[in-house]
Amino acid sequence: MTATMANILDGNKIAAQIRSEVAEQVRALAAAGHLPGLAVILAGEDQASAIYVRSKIKACQEVGIHSEKITAPASVTTQELLAEVARLNQRDDIDGILVQLPLPAQVDSQHVLLAVDPEKDVDGFHPVNVGKLATQRPTLAPCTPAGVMEILLRNHIAIAGRRAVVVGRSQVVGRPMALMLLNHDATVTICHSKTRDLPDITRQADILVVAVGQAGLVRESWVKPGATVIDVGINRVTDQAKFEELFAGDAAREKTFAEKGSVVAGDVHPRVAEVAGAITPVPGGVGPLTIAMLLENTVKACRMRRGRR
Ligand code: NAP
Repeated sequence: MTATMANILDGNKIAAQIRSEVAEQVRALAAAGHLPGLAVILAGEDQASAIYVRSKIKACQEVGIHSEKITAPASVTTQELLAEVARLNQRDDIDGILVQLPLPAQVDSQHVLLAVDPEKDVDGFHPVNVGKLATQRPTLAPCTPAGVMEILLRNHIAIAGRRAVVVGRSQVVGRPMALMLLNHDATVTICHSKTRDLPDITRQADILVVAVGQAGLVRESWVKPGATVIDVGINRVTDQAKFEELFAGDAAREKTFAEKGSVVAGDVHPRVAEVAGAITPVPGGVGPLTIAMLLENTVKACRMRRGRR
């Protein structure tokens, strides 16, 4: 018997739509003399951070947002970064400030993040913005969960009154995700590493969002038939046994694994696609939305600061 496969929710397509909408807004703002500007602070030598920052700068260039990369050596102090943030807070041509994490170990990251003007906090991590999200006020919201909302809304997936389960409670994904779903009238349950009988809870979900960081954690028996499953996880699989557990019989991935010694996997096992009604792929699901929402937040910050809501 062939299983019916879930509708695949294409994140690349939605991210492209959002980028083109942002580009249009940038043109209109620039014509009114308000070219949106984003500054990204990159401290230290972390290779992955350098790649992320490069792709953020490139994405800005593609939609016409002015962008600046501010680099600091691995030996940078908290005081030096605070001074940089203060300079950027003062600059009228900079609408968004992004401090790429992780910062070098000697830096007090919380202190630096708190110093960012909440009006320019395009990551949406400042407690002022977290509070606004929690109290349903207009705000700059964290990019990854905001991207998940775009996937749900643009695919016309019903949220109001539905049971949503969020697995993971990080400040970056799980917590703001739960608030956004609640703000859209879902009945929300948040799960984490101390949750008992996790599969019993995930099986109740009409919308299941998984942001844990464990490849293939969620199995097909954990999911209600027809549910919408959003897989936020991005995990590098290098172990042969784990690879086979997830991807045995997947010719394309077997080729990549043989050539590179690793593949990327989500937190949801691929066989969940045989049970779910709709599911995001990894890669190509939530990932592309994160940068698209950063661009959107930069334009939003520009409009909000200039009173052009
Ligand atoms: P995180 O800060 O490590 O948080 C992980 C959360 O999962 C924690 O709340 C933890 O619970 C919970 N957890 C861990 N093991 C669990 C288990 N066995 N059962 C239930 N809950 C468990 O991670 P994160 O930053 O939220 O990221 C999660 C995943 O999303 C990662 O794979 C990351 O790479 C990916 N991610 C993707 C994007 C994107 O653009 N697509 C953006 C950000 C993150 P406790 O709180 O109890 O420890």
